[in-house]
Amino acid sequence: MEEHLQRARKMEAVGALAGGVAHDLNNTLSGVVGYPELLLMNLPETDPLRKPIMGIKKSGEKAVAIVQDLLTLARRGVAVKEITNLNTLVHEYLQSTEFHTLKAFHAEVKFETQLAPSLLNISGSPIHLSKSLMNLISNAAEAIKDEGTIFVSTANRYVEQNEATSGNLAEGDYVVLTVRDTGEGIPPEDIDRIFEPFFTKKVMGRSGTGLGMAVVWGTVEDHGGHIDVRSGPGRGTTFTIHLPATREAVLQPTPTLSVADYRGH
Ligand code: ADP
Ligand code: MG
Repeated sequence: MEEHLQRARKMEAVGALAGGVAHDLNNTLSGVVGYPELLLMNLPETDPLRKPIMGIKKSGEKAVAIVQDLLTLARRGVAVKEITNLNTLVHEYLQSTEFHTLKAFHAEVKFETQLAPSLLNISGSPIHLSKSLMNLISNAAEAIKDEGTIFVSTANRYVEQNEATSGNLAEGDYVVLTVRDTGEGIPPEDIDRIFEPFFTKKVMGRSGTGLGMAVVWGTVEDHGGHIDVRSGPGRGTTFTIHLPATREAVLQPTPTLSVADYRGH
């Protein structure tokens, strides 16, 4: 409980910081990334200055990533909810440039999806939900050091009253998103901390911002949902997210997606 409160306070502080400076920083940084690009275009391939200039550009891009995550956190409160289907979001993600870039970086990682043929809708913020999905999948890929698999699945689930009273969910219809990986797992002492803003085991500012799971946690909270993590060193990690289905829960048939649909890219 204490952990929960502390995290909530940190999230609030990050939200305030983000709202205040992230927007200006974002504009400022476009120069830090843009000008080196311009220089690189005009320098001959052999110019010794190319390397340090590329360094400036790379650092600028890392800063942009941090600021983008901060902005996502800052926009949480003002996000407009709309009828959203998680299958559609998964589908869109699997066809996105982000996903193809990730696959190129992690050629040894296999992806498997199992989407409910007919998934209930939720009332949600597609931007935050997509970003959360991206964060979960990039963490999963980064946790796989050799070969491994990432499983993404969706399902409809009715939470019964007796389960509701003992757990953290109210009785009713939910959409369940599961992201599982066969990666290195999370040590027990870190489990409670992974959702904290700026908690990272990666090289801060290089491969990690420590904001990915904070975005996921905040998003799940905002949607009245619940997130559960099962993990252990060498056992891989499973994130299970319950999000309440909309009251006007229309069963929406979504295109069934086979791995072949996106493997070819
Ligand atoms: P970042 O990825 O920038 O480090 P995140 O907030 O996304 O920040 O994640 C925080 C930390 O949680 C990671 O550094 C990692 O130690 C741990 N983590 C999150 N997801 C996983 C996973 N699927 N497997 C192993 N560790 C994970
Ligand atoms: Mg991450």
